[in-house]
Amino acid sequence: MPRSAGIRPLPPVTVALVTPASGAAVPSGAVPARYDVAIVGAGIVGLAHAWRAVRAGLKVVVLERDEYAAGASIRNFGHICTSAQSGPAYDYALRARGEWLALGADAGIPVSTAGTVAVARRLEELAVLEEFVGERSDDNVLLTAAQLADKLGFAPVDALGGAWLRLDLRVDAPSAVPAFAAHLARLGVEFRYRANVLGVESGRVVTARAEVTADRVIVAVGHDVDRLFPGIADEHGVVRCRLRMIEADAPAGVTVDPGVFTGTSLLRYDAFSRTAAAAALRDALDREAPELGEHGVNLMFTQRLPHSDAAGRLVLGDTHHYGLTESPFDDEASDELLLARFRELLGVRELVVRRRWRGVYASSPNGPYLVASPAPGVTAVSVTSGIGMTTALGLAASVLD
Ligand SMILES: Cc1cc2nc3c(=O)[nH]c(=O)nc-3n(C[C@H](O)[C@H](O)[C@H](O)COP(=O)(O)OP(=O)(O)OC[C@H]3O[C@@H](n4cnc5c(N)ncnc54)[C@H](O)[C@@H]3O)c2cc1C
Repeated sequence: MPRSAGIRPLPPVTVALVTPASGAAVPSGAVPARYDVAIVGAGIVGLAHAWRAVRAGLKVVVLERDEYAAGASIRNFGHICTSAQSGPAYDYALRARGEWLALGADAGIPVSTAGTVAVARRLEELAVLEEFVGERSDDNVLLTAAQLADKLGFAPVDALGGAWLRLDLRVDAPSAVPAFAAHLARLGVEFRYRANVLGVESGRVVTARAEVTADRVIVAVGHDVDRLFPGIADEHGVVRCRLRMIEADAPAGVTVDPGVFTGTSLLRYDAFSRTAAAAALRDALDREAPELGEHGVNLMFTQRLPHSDAAGRLVLGDTHHYGLTESPFDDEASDELLLARFRELLGVRELVVRRRWRGVYASSPNGPYLVASPAPGVTAVSVTSGIGMTTALGLAASVLD
């Protein structure tokens, strides 16, 4: 990665400093607050780095442009899909799994250890799961259709069998992320919200309100990495991936402890898509259900955990549309497709939809991580695939250590 490409020239700085406690401006000319580590972005990637740094005894500040972190990290399934990773992402995911369990215990964040169930409704899907479980039989188990129904608490329509991926975890993202931030604040991390960062250079971060100085700067702004470092984002081929998500009542109040993958998931996650058997599945879906590919559909769901303000509802998703600029238009066909497929899977005529939203994450054809050093002491970190909840807590260790 280049060391100098993409540094945004800083504007002339005429700033008022903001005291952390009151938020009131103090005259410029006062000595800027100095930190060991300044982190830009309070999503899961920023928080993961803050946690690592504060545990190493460092003085840490997190700068977040919004009133609270409202990006990808609170819009996802809360699915820590360790099992579905391969290569370096699997190493990060395994490490992150331990970190999530420790964080859950330390911060009082509920973490479900029920794993994931992958449902196979085609022979080609079963073949992928058989090959996958054959390679990783310690942590994954093939299920018959009857075992599948038993584990899920309902019988998916036309299921032939499946697999239980035991390593996977689940959190309630909208509450877990603020709880994580609150835990860090208790540990001494300083948070400055509504602090839009305009520019970063070695030892110095300028926000629209103030300037901070820090020995080390971590820029964890997700898909907006191109706003601060366009050259680096271009070099890594970063685009925005826009997703649709739907929250619906669980039919007949069913409780589904594990996360649920279907055949489309087996083409999206590396641990499955790299199997030899995946090619036949891809061909079959392209031939018989091209609309799934057109909308980048990955049919999967998780159930909101009991402490969630939406307890018991199913989080259904998702679709994937790519572009440098996020299109403002959501095609109704995407949602209809998702809902039709879920009704079919669950064997229900209606699903009562309670909320819908879109999410955006960074995506790149060059791999799932952008880690670049645009200037000495400055690191830009972005997860450029939809696996930040799963791997960020492992990635942070490798970036900071
Ligand atoms: C719908 C959806 C479903 C997903 N499902 C899963 C899943 O189940 N499992 C999984 O592992 N991953 C999932 N992902 C991916 C995962 O959510 C992301 O990889 C991860 O949240 C990225 O974290 P982040 O901290 O980089 O980004 P974000 O959470 O977007 O945080 C970036 C933060 O930076 C702030 N920021 C940006 N620019 C500035 C600036 N100039 N100054 C100050 N602050 C700034 C933003 O306001 C934001 O709060 C999903 C993503 C989406 C969208």
